[in-house]
Amino acid sequence: MWPLDSMTASCEERRARAQAVLRERGAALRAREEVRRGLARVRRLGRGLEARMRGLGLDRLCVRCGLGPRGGCCAREMENEGDSLLLVANLLLGADVGAQRGEDSECSFLGARGCALRQKPIFCLNYLCAGMTGALSEADLAALRSETARCLEAYLTLEGMLAGQLAASRA
Ligand code: SF4
Ligand code: SF4
Repeated sequence: MWPLDSMTASCEERRARAQAVLRERGAALRAREEVRRGLARVRRLGRGLEARMRGLGLDRLCVRCGLGPRGGCCAREMENEGDSLLLVANLLLGADVGAQRGEDSECSFLGARGCALRQKPIFCLNYLCAGMTGALSEADLAALRSETARCLEAYLTLEGMLAGQLAASRA
């Protein structure tokens, strides 16, 4: 089994671990047809979800909220929601997993154009604040939840493949 991160691993340590995995195993992972298909599915569904959120005006809602007096919800403590395997997946998806900001109170993955990750941690992917749920009809909310669940299922399938390949290459 792919060894889990230490519970005390910092975000910097998870980034470094993911970058080392990509250097050492990235080419072998990309060479696997099922990994390429899994990445393509995660990418396609992720773009669909982003387009739906834009269509519902949720991106503008978050920008307004982030610029407001209380700021958005991407707080510093959220950056440890994702493990190094999520960051490996993000690197394979072409995301910049480096720190987007210095020492402030917000998540280091939060860049000038929003979250720099192409696959967000599960908590962030599922999170709908009261402002969002209040702005949506029941039908839009149900469609959004269903699309989010498809994205999550695609990512968990990919994650299982990556973990299996990485564990096999250690054997
Ligand atoms: S999800 Fe909600 S709380 Fe978070 S930035 Fe968007 S509007 Fe604000
Ligand atoms: S959505 Fe991205 S930037 Fe916001 S807390 Fe989650 S990982 Fe950080």
